[in-house]
Amino acid sequence: ASDASLDEREERRGTGDRGFDPAGRLAERDQRGLRRELTPIAAVRGRSPIADDPGADEPVFDGPEQLLFAANDYLGLAGDERVQRAAAETAREVGTGAGASRLVTGDTPAHRALERDLADAKNAERALVFSSGYATNVGVISALSPDVVFSDALNHASIVDGCRQARAETVVYDHCDPSDLRAKMAERAANGPAATGDAGESWLVLTDSVFSMDGDVAPLEPICDVVESFGAWLMVDEAHATGLYGGGGGIVQRAGLSDRVHVQMGTLSKALGSQGGYVAGSEALIDHLLNAARSFVFSTGLAPPAAGAAREALRIAREDDAHRERLWENVARLRDGLEDAGYEVWGETQICPVVVGDRDDAMALDDRLRSHDIVAPGIRPPTVPEGTSRIRVAPMATHTEDEIDRCLAAFREAGRELGLV
Ligand code: PMP
Repeated sequence: ASDASLDEREERRGTGDRGFDPAGRLAERDQRGLRRELTPIAAVRGRSPIADDPGADEPVFDGPEQLLFAANDYLGLAGDERVQRAAAETAREVGTGAGASRLVTGDTPAHRALERDLADAKNAERALVFSSGYATNVGVISALSPDVVFSDALNHASIVDGCRQARAETVVYDHCDPSDLRAKMAERAANGPAATGDAGESWLVLTDSVFSMDGDVAPLEPICDVVESFGAWLMVDEAHATGLYGGGGGIVQRAGLSDRVHVQMGTLSKALGSQGGYVAGSEALIDHLLNAARSFVFSTGLAPPAAGAAREALRIAREDDAHRERLWENVARLRDGLEDAGYEVWGETQICPVVVGDRDDAMALDDRLRSHDIVAPGIRPPTVPEGTSRIRVAPMATHTEDEIDRCLAAFREAGRELGLV
């Protein structure tokens, strides 16, 4: 009901038509500047552009090479031969699809091996993989079924949707602000249903560790202190941290907090270059989730080649620092260069948001960068708050110094052309 406009209802009234008007809804999005399109990736590093020919049966590889500075495949492992080989071997040995839910006949050695390694990397008793990070958040939060959720203002949409599906009362606290979290928890304790401070409710605090649009890191230790002082549970989303920090285990590992974080989740789809999501925690938690998380129970098991690829990528991320070192060198070169050029760059991680403010400026910069063969997306409201439109730049370990410099040159020129720097 939420997507239908009043006009649409008005037009339908009395006509006996109870159908839908997708074209009208699209037009409305258009009017509000919110319509989005699938953009054929004109360029992936190491691949030539795909000509934009919607009539072609096969992608046509032709045209000048464009450089992609927008992928979450931060370590470049999606293109790593060892990871590709692991996917192919798993496909051959186990099959391309799981064929059923894990609880029916879809459980395979490829899943079990990956889950063992993930549990080990996260310093947890057990792990469970889902078909995506999105399905993990929605399934885990709704299976925990908290009475009240305290959620960072910038948490990912899949967390928001998990809270909705759990029908939890959701209290949003200021971004990365443990004091505001403490104040909101205290307020809820004082004014909750029984107003006794302990109404027998279950409380879940939720935060990303690395935030995908601001590129900053949650202050996990003070958050743990607050959570513990109210006897609540903490769940941390390590989607953008898995494989990159804490020797590959994530920010929770880096901070030595695996004993104080009750639920660790993440995806296999970013630095691990594969597809799927995971949750790690105690034996009892995981056993409960595999019984109760509907996105696990009623969905086909993760494709075995994705599990095989993720396992090999996790091994590389844990055992081999070379990719990470290259990534951090590239991040430093890019951040420094952008700041020298006069841009404002937020955050402290591999995600480098170049904040220009105005939404039209951000989209114009996106466009100019593309004309310089650099692909880095403009991000505007409602994805980010008004006045903070930005280009989300994400370098990869596989970019060469020369490629980072090409990106910087494009930013300098485009910024001058548009009068932004
Ligand atoms: N959590 C966060 C913080 C994310 O950024 C994403 C992906 N954009 C997800 C969860 C969902 O993961 P997936 O893409 O594997 O569904």
